[in-house]
Amino acid sequence: MYRSHNCGELNVTNINEEVTLAGWVQKSRDKGFIVWVDLRDRYGITQLVFDEERTSKDMLQQAQNLGREFVVQVKGTVIERTSKNPNISTGDIEILVSELNILNESLLPPFTIEDKTDGGEDIRMKYRYLDIRRNPVKDSLIFRHKVTQEVRNYLSKEGFIEVETPYLIKSTPEGARDFVVPSRMNEGQFYALPQSPQTFKQLLMVGGMDKYFQIVKCFRDEDLRADRQPEFTQIDCEMAFIEQEDILNAFEGLTRHLLKEVNGVDVEKFPRMLYDDAMRLYGNDKPDIRFGMEFGELNDVAQHKDFGVFNNAELVVGIAVPGGNSYTRKDIDKLIDWVKRPQVGALGMVYSRCNDDGTFKSSVDKFYDQDDLAKWAEVTGAKAGDLICVLSGNKNKVRAQLSALRMELAERLGLRKPDEFAPLWVMDFPLLEWDEDTERYHAMHHPFTSPKPGQLELLKTNPGDVKANAYDLVLNGNEIGGGSIRIHDKETQSLMFDYLGFTPEEAKAQFGFLMDAFQYGAPPHGGLAFGLDRLVAILGGQETIRDFIAFPKNNSGRDVMIDSPAPIDDEQLTELSLKLNLKP
Ligand code: ASP
Repeated sequence: MYRSHNCGELNVTNINEEVTLAGWVQKSRDKGFIVWVDLRDRYGITQLVFDEERTSKDMLQQAQNLGREFVVQVKGTVIERTSKNPNISTGDIEILVSELNILNESLLPPFTIEDKTDGGEDIRMKYRYLDIRRNPVKDSLIFRHKVTQEVRNYLSKEGFIEVETPYLIKSTPEGARDFVVPSRMNEGQFYALPQSPQTFKQLLMVGGMDKYFQIVKCFRDEDLRADRQPEFTQIDCEMAFIEQEDILNAFEGLTRHLLKEVNGVDVEKFPRMLYDDAMRLYGNDKPDIRFGMEFGELNDVAQHKDFGVFNNAELVVGIAVPGGNSYTRKDIDKLIDWVKRPQVGALGMVYSRCNDDGTFKSSVDKFYDQDDLAKWAEVTGAKAGDLICVLSGNKNKVRAQLSALRMELAERLGLRKPDEFAPLWVMDFPLLEWDEDTERYHAMHHPFTSPKPGQLELLKTNPGDVKANAYDLVLNGNEIGGGSIRIHDKETQSLMFDYLGFTPEEAKAQFGFLMDAFQYGAPPHGGLAFGLDRLVAILGGQETIRDFIAFPKNNSGRDVMIDSPAPIDDEQLTELSLKLNLKP
């Protein structure tokens, strides 16, 4: 038996018991004739004591030579401490050691194994196994476990069956590049790793599984924007014989269960917002509704004066910054510089101060009188003491810019509270999205998403206006899940591939298996997938997902610990019938 107890469980009720503990040396304090050692495992820290009188001189010497992170086993008696530590659960006791076994020595770790470590991100990732010994990382992994357990509990109770789907498949169109795997046995052919199990879960519905879920890895070869991982985990779900309402209720139920069980938070029924409204009011399809600062569109009240910038703009839109009138001229100039940064891309910003006496002072007083500015205040909901910030230009661009400003200001004003949870559904996404690069429409969600009833005809004339039975679940300004009601007949699916620019041959080659399946009694079905990493991070009150992943990759998609990706040797290339053609 390596241990009778763990390092977090002994207290005064155990006094005089003989115990065996094992763990890592956190630190030791050596007074010459007496040595204290903090022994750590995942449950906590227990203090060990060695001294000349009560333990042997040899053992005292051995204890003096213990280095940080040595793995040891001790036997001893639980005794009461003279100076207690109220900060830890074992702080009232210590172990008077009678036997010390060094199970393994350790090199000096390259950073301190403390909550606040001296190790930077890179070094911690290289030695991630040491990083995982630190409480913040360990606790995040345990937290993730708790969330996944609750997901499984809830969905199983609701009759969902967890089914595994394969990883060696072919392209699933979620809009990213595929990671591919060469097949040795099928020369010149490749598997693709799933961007999601989308087609398989639909086939499970055709197979009659009716309520499916899977906690599953997905792989997308995208340029890594901040806080994305090339492999990430979804809670992937699908249901048959359902309407959109059933899906929303089922997964609102899951989310509510998680907030309750994991965070102890009760939330009301989730509000629902149309995609068009989210874009109009927040400039964003994943609005953070923990705070207001809704957009006010000012075209009607700000155009047709003599201000050319506004007159020429497709959209003039503003927000009221609570208390913003307290900003100095310099603060506002800095804000203007902020929106002009290339990452935001605004050309400038107009503002109007809302004075306590009900008057206004704007940066465009030359063109707008007090009555005009009063209208701006009315439209943006600005009150005395606020600052109205106004951007103008191309509708889509200006919405994105003002949304960035809204989020930045909310952050600065402390309005994005991590312990406050504001979920909502965003509904009726457009079916298609125009892609500037390829000058073509792409499926905004994926090509299996059904258009709203009666909108199929519109595809021919105004494809950009067609709305889909697609929905996203948003939490605190993050998309935590998204899905749709699917097409389930061959004709509509072929039509959709056609609109998306697939030739019938291409559609057959890529998705023939799905269209075939649709001819054998495919039930109406739909579903969604949650991004588990992000969901866990948000429930954990944080916005970066990396701490909740045991072995994450860095921003260049590398695992710096195992040093991957890495070249493979010639023999392996030959076996796979591959030749490299590297860029010079
Ligand atoms: N497969 C979709 C995704 O990964 C989710 C869904 O439509 O169920 O976003």
